[in-house]
Amino acid sequence: MPKTPRCEHEPCRGPLPITARADARYCSGRCRTAACRARRSVPKELAARPRWVRRSSRKVPLTVDGQSASSTDPATWSRYRDATASSAGVGLGFVLDGDGIVVLDLDHCLDGDQVEPWAQGVLDAAAGCWVERSAGGDGLHIWGRGRLPGGGGRRLRLGAGTVELYGDGRYIAVTGEPWGGTPPRLGDLQHVINSLL
Ligand SMILES: [Zn+2]
Repeated sequence: MPKTPRCEHEPCRGPLPITARADARYCSGRCRTAACRARRSVPKELAARPRWVRRSSRKVPLTVDGQSASSTDPATWSRYRDATASSAGVGLGFVLDGDGIVVLDLDHCLDGDQVEPWAQGVLDAAAGCWVERSAGGDGLHIWGRGRLPGGGGRRLRLGAGTVELYGDGRYIAVTGEPWGGTPPRLGDLQHVINSLL
């Protein structure tokens, strides 16, 4: 049975209307506009690095050709342009390789559009960094510059929630859905990391 074509705007993923053209990628003009906005929102420092992958709905990293990818094998990564042009899987991912780009992952920190109190302090401290809504829809990723002592990732309790810190050896699912009008650039996160650790 042929796979039902789905809207490529990630928060939608609805079926395409049966009247859609064979090469249609979005279910509506609204979704096309939202997807374009998300693509433009990604900071240039990320878009310029050839460390992009695709990902499945179960967050398995994929190459632009739909093969399995690895966060430690650069041969399976691509340029941003090629990753956004690919329709493999359901969305994009960016590989952290220890070059000083870090992500703070605030899981389940949104209740609708309200930020949970435990997460608000981190967001305030990270002012000047790009923040995107996570693929699950109820979390946020803060993107910036810094180093994690010892490398790898860290998982910390913070009030009623959990914050995860990543700097290398893994990929981050990227939605490009900006949060709270944050600027599309990587600000300094080192002071935030230092205060958390
Ligand atoms: Zn749609």
